[in-house]
Amino acid sequence: MATKFDMSDLIRNDHFIDGKWVASASGKRFDVTNPATGEVITAVADGNEADARAATDAAARAFPAWRDALPKERAAVLHRWHALMLENADALGRLISLEQGKPFAEGRGEVLYGASYVAWFADEATRIYGDLIPQQQRGKRMSAVREPVGIVAAITPWNFPLAMIARKIAPALAAGCTVVGKPAEDTPLTALALVHLAHEAGVPPGVLNLIAASRENAVPAVAEWLHDSRVRKITFTGSTPVGKYLARESADTLKKLSLELGGNAPFIVFDDADLAAAVSGLLVSKFRNGGQTCVCPNRVYVQSSVYEKFGDMLAKRVAALKVAPATDPSAEIGPMINARAIDKIARHVDDAVSKGARVLAGGKRLTALGSNYYAPTVLADATSTMQLSCEETFGPVVPLFRFDDEAQAIRAANDTPFGLASYFYSQDIRRIDRVVRRLEAGIVGINEGALASEAAPFGGVKESGYGREGSKYGLDDYLSIKYLCQGGLE
Ligand code: ADP
Repeated sequence: MATKFDMSDLIRNDHFIDGKWVASASGKRFDVTNPATGEVITAVADGNEADARAATDAAARAFPAWRDALPKERAAVLHRWHALMLENADALGRLISLEQGKPFAEGRGEVLYGASYVAWFADEATRIYGDLIPQQQRGKRMSAVREPVGIVAAITPWNFPLAMIARKIAPALAAGCTVVGKPAEDTPLTALALVHLAHEAGVPPGVLNLIAASRENAVPAVAEWLHDSRVRKITFTGSTPVGKYLARESADTLKKLSLELGGNAPFIVFDDADLAAAVSGLLVSKFRNGGQTCVCPNRVYVQSSVYEKFGDMLAKRVAALKVAPATDPSAEIGPMINARAIDKIARHVDDAVSKGARVLAGGKRLTALGSNYYAPTVLADATSTMQLSCEETFGPVVPLFRFDDEAQAIRAANDTPFGLASYFYSQDIRRIDRVVRRLEAGIVGINEGALASEAAPFGGVKESGYGREGSKYGLDDYLSIKYLCQGGLE
């Protein structure tokens, strides 16, 4: 059996339910387009409540056997899946670039990143320990064991079409849960390709089910899972309003929730920072995926005495970034995902400029390349009255805010309902210790812009959500604790 596929072999356009590729119950389809050109790649099955229910039925049937499989049996399947992802990294990377737009090097990098979670959780599957509780009464033995929560519904965004779903499916399967999932309507193809490889790797029928849906049908399809008491957990990455909606709608069946929601990440440059390192760290953290990640710095605070110098150094590097379609090997930034995204970026920049921001680099659409391209942009003299200070721009725009002292920087950084990533650059060890303790965020980068790792707990505080993905904590969200008390042992 072939294990290495061309990109075209990996393109699937039906739902995957109970180990089979099936069209929608309604027969409907929706178009998936290439954001670089607007061309239709394929028409994908458009699922609704009937398809969502069929997926849950399959996951319910498959659960008892998967739960009871030996941890090392589940680990072996995940390791095979991981190997297939690596073997097909080029084809998957190209598919990510095709439907999402990021340059190929980043697409391939995403495959390796997503695969690292699969390997990590394959190993973690064999380390789900319980506790023997020190004896409290004679004749009684107390212990705690950990069990899979049951069926997990995974709902994911378009910005990392492979990594976001891999890091939900992998811990769920490792824990012994079965999965129903729905990728974003802009990028369902990578997730469907991944499920195809999971099937090839030996994931049993019904253990992993994926339906695609247009924006319109996503609502009733996901609502079916939210209201079905057999679904015991929702794991979601996406916007804060949708996360809150999922929490509200699933309240009647009290599901376990992991919500990885929006950020509005601050990036603080103190006057004692290594400025060259701070510029490089900002480029890495800000321009990954063209600024379309939830951990991208959205507000950059620079201390007054180094403000102009930092702005000049940054603007030079940003102006040199190459914007091109993913098919161009020299591309560093591709198209934005869709018209909605590019309109928001333009709106934020125009609003800032109208309120006094100075354009140090970029500041315009690149219409010669196509309708979804925006020039990497640096704006000086940003203030808290501008839209980009309180909303995620989710694009290649760096607004530079000025501050005078540490307390003012911390206050501004925390002045947001969000708390996912945060970054700061300083070489003063006492300041580092103070700032780390005061930043209200789930993730802090200290003199570092690249934070992603399967070994680290990724997640937010405040309205950025709860739950952690990756690390030794990453399985907790997919397990429940059962306390056993055995008497009559005297
Ligand atoms: P974005 O703004 O990045 O598209 P969203 O939160 O809107 O983020 O989307 C993330 C995921 O949530 C996607 O898979 C999308 O289809 C899904 N989604 C969006 N709105 C709803 C909804 N009302 N019900 C269920 N799923 C939704």
